[in-house]
Amino acid sequence: MEKKELTNKERLALPLQKMPEQKPEERIRNVNEVPLGFTEEMAVAEAERCLQCKNEPCVKGCPVAINIPGFIKLITERKFGEAIAVIKETSVLPAVCGRVCPQEEQCQKPCTVGKSLKSVDLAIQIGKLERFVADWEMSQADASVPVIKKETGKAIAIIGCGPAGITVAADCRREGHRVTIFEALHKPGGVLAYGIPEFRLPKKIVGREVDNLVRMGVEVKMNMVIGKIHTIDELMEEGYDAVFVGTGAGLPVFLNIPGENLNGIYSANEYLTRANLMQSYSFPNTDTPILRAKNVAVFGGGNVAMDSARTALRLGADNVYLVYRRSKEEMPARKEEVHHAEEEGVKLNLLQNPLRFIGDEKGWVTGVECLRMELGEPDDSGRRRPVPIKGSEFVIPVDACIVAIGNASNPLIPQTSPDINVTKWGNIIADEETLKTSKKGVFAGGDIVLGAATVILAMGQGRKAAKAINEYLATGAW
Ligand code: FAD
Ligand code: SF4
Repeated sequence: MEKKELTNKERLALPLQKMPEQKPEERIRNVNEVPLGFTEEMAVAEAERCLQCKNEPCVKGCPVAINIPGFIKLITERKFGEAIAVIKETSVLPAVCGRVCPQEEQCQKPCTVGKSLKSVDLAIQIGKLERFVADWEMSQADASVPVIKKETGKAIAIIGCGPAGITVAADCRREGHRVTIFEALHKPGGVLAYGIPEFRLPKKIVGREVDNLVRMGVEVKMNMVIGKIHTIDELMEEGYDAVFVGTGAGLPVFLNIPGENLNGIYSANEYLTRANLMQSYSFPNTDTPILRAKNVAVFGGGNVAMDSARTALRLGADNVYLVYRRSKEEMPARKEEVHHAEEEGVKLNLLQNPLRFIGDEKGWVTGVECLRMELGEPDDSGRRRPVPIKGSEFVIPVDACIVAIGNASNPLIPQTSPDINVTKWGNIIADEETLKTSKKGVFAGGDIVLGAATVILAMGQGRKAAKAINEYLATGAW
């Protein structure tokens, strides 16, 4: 019997599907993923809520303009393979983006359903549907390898195996070019591997995306720090016709307050790299130790701070204080991450600013002195400026601290290729459309150009750069 088409009113009355999750008290004792994924029935029911808007506001909110109504319609028809194919026309890493993209600020924000029901929390859960079809594909025996055009004899060197480099590799290899990725670390994935924790992004997903590249014929060389082992000029002399720099923003920014070099104070980069990449949560079964602290203060209010705080809980902390100098509304972290952190017991110490660290005679941190703040007039960013409250100093007793207030660009490439122009913050200057740098044959994209940004923006720049590289190799025109 033919299925009766629902009216928009009926669709708006359908209940939002809640993705099952591990319970907070269970999940802080393991590193497994927190949200467990939709079943087929849930995904179809969620997709049925979509109104298939002709003006596609959700597509306008997506940085890579995925055909969102198109793939959602295919889910309602249970054509999951076709749905993932639609997403892959524009996105190379759907299983990653479905999990970590800030959809509530992008595609889901302008969604007509959310607007009609007067809450972005009730919008179609586009990210969760994207994750569902990506995971569905992964559960099938053979994921297909994209068609590779005839070999061109041209070679491209990609520096950095994060989302930007992975995207360029896939798009350039498809054109038939020889592609080699040089990655400094011993595992591929960039921040997806060393920064974002397993409980948010299982590493097998990142591994699979890189395996796909290898199956396409991309060569991935690990432990290759470009700038130390080879310079870009040497790579070009070796026969690479074009180079893409996707080295990210991996340089930690510190608070620069007294006592910051005491033992027990980590940059978020070091803490998360130990925990994720080196799997120190399994020490001594793995090689890298990490401090099993009981009282931990984390400084910052973004995703990196949330990931650090939630990791500290999983490593056995009794108290984790997230010290942030503004209010909760102004936290740059994804709402879902703040919600998960609070559910797990992270204490939000809002409107507080660290002044100095206090240590014992052996040089270990024992406390952090903070000052309370109140909100004043809006600053240049439009957010209300935090203003110190005189005489409000107090001490939080801690045995570890994690500084997660930002990351700057990796300096090695600009230092060893001075003919690549950079901004005063060290970000590589690249043309917005072609991602060409000031050096002929060299392109750059992702966090090394944008500053610490997002996976989808890094991927979007990778897409543009790959198009420009393919054109450059076809025509030779710079
Ligand atoms: P990266 O992912 O940084 O990859 C760069 C790679 O280059 C690294 O593997 C590095 O080892 C390598 N490299 C560096 N120098 C050299 C060299 N000289 N030679 C060879 N290789 C080199 N974004 C979101 O969208 N959602 C989130 O939830 C989110 N959470 C985050 C959580 C954390 C803890 C962090 C740190 C970032 C998070 N981000 C998130 C940001 C996002 O991960 C980055 O914007 C994105 O990974 C940038 O991609 P990229 O390819 O430019 O660089
Ligand atoms: Fe569907 Fe929302 Fe996009 Fe409209 S805006 S097509 S309801 S996802």
